Amino acid sequence: MQKGWIVNNRVAKLAEEILNGKIIDRGEIEFLFLLGDENFDDLLYWANQIRQKFFGRKIKVCSIVPGRLGGCTQDCKFCAQSAGHETAYKDVKILTDEEIVSAARKAKQNGVPNFGIVYSGKTISEKELQRLEKLIPKIKTEVGIGVCGGFGIINYEQALRLKKAGLARYNHNLETSRKHFANIVTTHDYESRIETVRAAKKAGLGLCTGGIFGIGEADADRIDMALLIRELEVDMVPMNFLSPIEGTPLADTPTMRPREILRLIALYRFILPKVQIKAAGGRKLNLRDLQSWIFYAGATSIISGDYLTTAGRAVEEDLKMISDLGLEADRTCA
Ligand code: SF4
Repeated sequence: MQKGWIVNNRVAKLAEEILNGKIIDRGEIEFLFLLGDENFDDLLYWANQIRQKFFGRKIKVCSIVPGRLGGCTQDCKFCAQSAGHETAYKDVKILTDEEIVSAARKAKQNGVPNFGIVYSGKTISEKELQRLEKLIPKIKTEVGIGVCGGFGIINYEQALRLKKAGLARYNHNLETSRKHFANIVTTHDYESRIETVRAAKKAGLGLCTGGIFGIGEADADRIDMALLIRELEVDMVPMNFLSPIEGTPLADTPTMRPREILRLIALYRFILPKVQIKAAGGRKLNLRDLQSWIFYAGATSIISGDYLTTAGRAVEEDLKMISDLGLEADRTCA
């Protein structure tokens, strides 16, 4: 790599081009991924400039509930919910309508405008879909909160029915690159994930599609996934960071360093300048005292409250952090 200041000038030039509407290519992205620790501050500085230009001071906050928890037939190596892993979530637990509505009400009372229902499992049954077709409008009317959801692999017709029921965004992560996916999941293929994202898009649903980092992927995998996300025209990218869970195949994987996470958020901000970037699962565990730096690195959204199987930060604490930073929690739905 060239001398520090020459490199920083090139980062600044690229960032200024992005601020003027440029979409950077793979070669430019690879250059950014090769930046060393000495360029870290510059990378974050420019990621923050890009965030400010396209999103101002607004930060989107959402909370999630596991509508169906555990007992999953799939074998995703990072996940505590696979029935094949020796965790506390081997058996499936399905929340009642009342429990889900009550979780939505709690999110609303906490000042969160968007609420996500997430199901474990490969897909949903017709019976579950019919239930959701009644439950989604009920939550929207009774609670007055935006409803998003992730129910596994679905086709266009199912996506359309969810859209008609009032679902705002479909959450379906790519998890990692196509190449690395086969090392992480063997029970379904990458193509079915892409097809689900395309089906949701075609049905008019917003897309909440990102992945998980710290699962043995290389920078090339991170670049591949970011470029695919860009191609799929996703509007929100949840970035999860592995919380190694006892009983899963990745239980002994070292956690990511806080600066590594911030670097990745900043790099994704350069690649996806106008797309919402959400710091999601693993934020509390992995970032420790550097929580608030995520916005300076370019994040524009957070999941607040508990995650699916791990504890998160209290919503009140997150909202305070946002206002202490001079930022503003976006109160609009979805
Ligand atoms: S990530 Fe989803 S599909 Fe994979 S094991 Fe967990 S719940 Fe099942």
